[in-house]
Amino acid sequence: MNSPYYKRFKVTQRYVSGTHDGLDLVGLDSKDIHSTVNGKVLYAGWENINNSRQGFGKYVKIQKDNSDMVFYYAHLSDIYVKKGDRVRITQVIGKEGSTGYSTGSHCHYCCRKNGVRGNDLDISKISGIPNKLGIYDDGYREGNDGYLENSSYKGNSIVDALKQIGVDSSFSNRKKIASRNNISNYTGTATQNTKLLNLLKKGKLIK
Ligand SMILES: [Zn+2]
Repeated sequence: MNSPYYKRFKVTQRYVSGTHDGLDLVGLDSKDIHSTVNGKVLYAGWENINNSRQGFGKYVKIQKDNSDMVFYYAHLSDIYVKKGDRVRITQVIGKEGSTGYSTGSHCHYCCRKNGVRGNDLDISKISGIPNKLGIYDDGYREGNDGYLENSSYKGNSIVDALKQIGVDSSFSNRKKIASRNNISNYTGTATQNTKLLNLLKKGKLIK
């Protein structure tokens, strides 16, 4: 799964389409909020500068590259990015908090098609975070470059997997990556690609 947290976090409120358009999450090992996508910051700041109790409070909104999906990270206490910034998956973008319409520290994490309120997409399916109250661990660790945008990734394409994490997936670059990982004479055979993909999934690929 791919959550905005490092290590363990808790789901405290489920996603219910139309009623609660995201998951409420609480970080257990860290309060850092990581971007879950490669994309561009569309907004970073207060929902209403004159009312810190309104709506999302301090929040960040990121459009995923090459998609109409816009991801929201709300109720933050701190924000480390600004509008127009490019962010990379796993980059720390803010700190969990309780700004806006919130009674305790948490992050409302949701995804809306084209960033339109009411156009909520099922964040649980997108992220792989179970839509069920409980404590989870998304497997992300500091320095784990192989972290996939969706670790429920079932594809067998190293090209797609590299694209997902924002790495040049051209043949020439794959050849370079292969040699860094002791796969000599890379020609793009299925066996070689599977080796690369398995390393990537384990977070062991040297890119
Ligand atoms: Zn919420």
